[in-house]
Amino acid sequence: MIVSKVSRSAILHAAESDRLQRLVQGHGMRVGAARFVAGETLDECVSVIRRLNEAGLHANTTLLGEAILDPAGTAEVTEEYERILDRLVAEKLRANVALKLTHLGLSFDVERAYANVDRLVSHAAAIGSFIRIDMEQSEHLDATLAIYERLRAAGHDAVGTVLQSYLYRTPDDLARLLPLRPNLRIVKGAYLEPAEIAYPEKRDVDRAYLEIVEHALHGGAYIAVATHDDSIIARVKALADREGIGRDRFEFQMLYGVRPALQRSIAAERYKVLVATPFGPDWYPYLMRRLAERPANLSFFLRSLVRR
Ligand SMILES: Cc1cc2nc3c(=O)[nH]c(=O)nc-3n(C[C@H](O)[C@H](O)[C@H](O)COP(=O)(O)OP(=O)(O)OC[C@H]3O[C@@H](n4cnc5c(N)ncnc54)[C@H](O)[C@@H]3O)c2cc1C
Repeated sequence: MIVSKVSRSAILHAAESDRLQRLVQGHGMRVGAARFVAGETLDECVSVIRRLNEAGLHANTTLLGEAILDPAGTAEVTEEYERILDRLVAEKLRANVALKLTHLGLSFDVERAYANVDRLVSHAAAIGSFIRIDMEQSEHLDATLAIYERLRAAGHDAVGTVLQSYLYRTPDDLARLLPLRPNLRIVKGAYLEPAEIAYPEKRDVDRAYLEIVEHALHGGAYIAVATHDDSIIARVKALADREGIGRDRFEFQMLYGVRPALQRSIAAERYKVLVATPFGPDWYPYLMRRLAERPANLSFFLRSLVRR
């Protein structure tokens, strides 16, 4: 536990180094990154999603990138997301979009981020699609939930968001959102957060996860159980069976490249399984979070860098 904790924070800290970023970006996609990232272009991503759909899996996609700091940049990202939504619908893929509000301007202008996401959620609703707002570092949490609530108050339903079980505050956030009958993805949490606000111990994060899912299902939410954790997956299935919670009330979600055999076996049991399938040239921070989640991934990645 100690080793994996040190590795996780070491990797997340190292990820902030510009030199490391240049080195990894220069070589990574041709080697290790392609395991977790569905290509650098939308065309490549569409082929991956088509294969997932053919295997009975749903998908969402994300144009990788975060923390855009200029208005013109966020306008470009918003237009690109409109094209992505249109393409997914035109190709009749069982796929929607998950995005980060910092990619739409949240770090420097909350109103701009709201206007951009409002435009995208309206567009998604008009063409029968859906947008999930990812949850980022805790500094963005209040603004992200406020934007989600504002969208719902404006009558948008084709939108969901994410809660992270590592944060102590999440049960309170859930209680606040439940009256909206929200569509929520529950995750453990992927960022480095201090012990003042987040459980340092994995067993507490896991325990909180199950409590949050249970409370959310009892409270009428639609839940995306986003984890690769066998024990949590088994317990959620058992809870649903025991309490007669229909399979139209929840789905499982996993990441592209992580436990693909498990994804297929759960889909074969006729649960809805969605695979998060991101693409784009700015894949570096995303890759670093995936490596930090499992130190074994790092050795896999370094070996493939060295082998080139
Ligand atoms: C669909 C989806 C969306 C997400 N969205 C967000 C978000 O919006 N905000 C956020 O903070 N976090 C998000 N996450 C990440 C999440 O917070 C966790 O960091 C991540 O899912 C790893 O935790 P776990 O639940 O799989 O459990 P863990 O206990 O970390 O892992 C359980 C088992 O899964 C396997 N595993 C887990 N991760 C990996 C990996 N990277 N590579 C290989 N094997 C692995 C291992 O075998 C491990 O034993 C998302 C995760 C998923 C699946």
